[in-house]
Amino acid sequence: MGRTRILILGGTAESRRLGEALAPRTDLDIVLSLAGRTIDPAPQPVPMRSGGFGGAEGLARYLRDEAIDLLIDATHPFAARISANAAEAAALSGIAAFALRRPYWVPAEGDRWRSVQSVSKAIAALGPSPLQVFLAIGRQEAYQANAAPIHHYWVRSVDPVEPPLTVPNVTYIHAKGPFRLEDELAMLRQHSIDVIVTKNSGGSATYAKIEAARQLGVEVIMIERAAADDMAAVETVEDALRRIDHLAASLMKRGV
Ligand code: NAP
Repeated sequence: MGRTRILILGGTAESRRLGEALAPRTDLDIVLSLAGRTIDPAPQPVPMRSGGFGGAEGLARYLRDEAIDLLIDATHPFAARISANAAEAAALSGIAAFALRRPYWVPAEGDRWRSVQSVSKAIAALGPSPLQVFLAIGRQEAYQANAAPIHHYWVRSVDPVEPPLTVPNVTYIHAKGPFRLEDELAMLRQHSIDVIVTKNSGGSATYAKIEAARQLGVEVIMIERAAADDMAAVETVEDALRRIDHLAASLMKRGV
């Protein structure tokens, strides 16, 4: 009986943790796929490939060519295109698939959130008076701040924002999570931040800024996730492992 071949679409802390948990398994062949955007990606615990597949059809072709048995979409909750492609490719190729999607954050007592549906709406929601804005949305969509040049932006991302923003007042912070509460508190105080703009990404690695905002009474403009995925989803790595075992056992029974 051959080993069950699994493709994990990654780029998140969860995909990495899943890879770590699966790396010792001799009954599975794992490939972890990254988009290839991060300049210096952290080493991964399992064999890796990098770069786009060429849409849903390209991904379906890859699944067939590589004889993949199971597709796991463990991409970031805001990476909507690859998730839609994954659902379509799994349907096209008829293989088992599920998503690993951490739960989004929900407001706690003391939080001052304004929820919006997109980065452009978040920037518009800053309003006409100059503010000190902590922009924590990653680098790809940071350019949308150019639409509201009245504010001073503190832009945090792993890699540099290219091209740089055109606004007159901007400070770049290059840092990679996880972030600690005391550091986030110090950052918000040091720069007298009035408002944080962030995506509702869920997870613990970047949650400290939300707690810090709560403690200091700082407003958060929260960009909410788009519509739910087409795929069945689990929320934790542990649930993903259970589902993998279940699917691998049923593939073995069918002699796949
Ligand atoms: P996206 O808009 O959903 O995807 C754009 C294209 O990038 C896809 O159509 C696909 O190209 C390629 N792609 C994306 N993820 C891939 C993967 N894991 N392996 C191979 N190709 C991939 O994605 P995005 O928002 O740019 O995010 C890119 C990556 O960064 C994702 O892997 C995601 O997990 C990670 N990430 C995203 C965010 C965020 O806020 N969006 C935050 C943290 C990490 P083809 O159509 O050519 O296959």
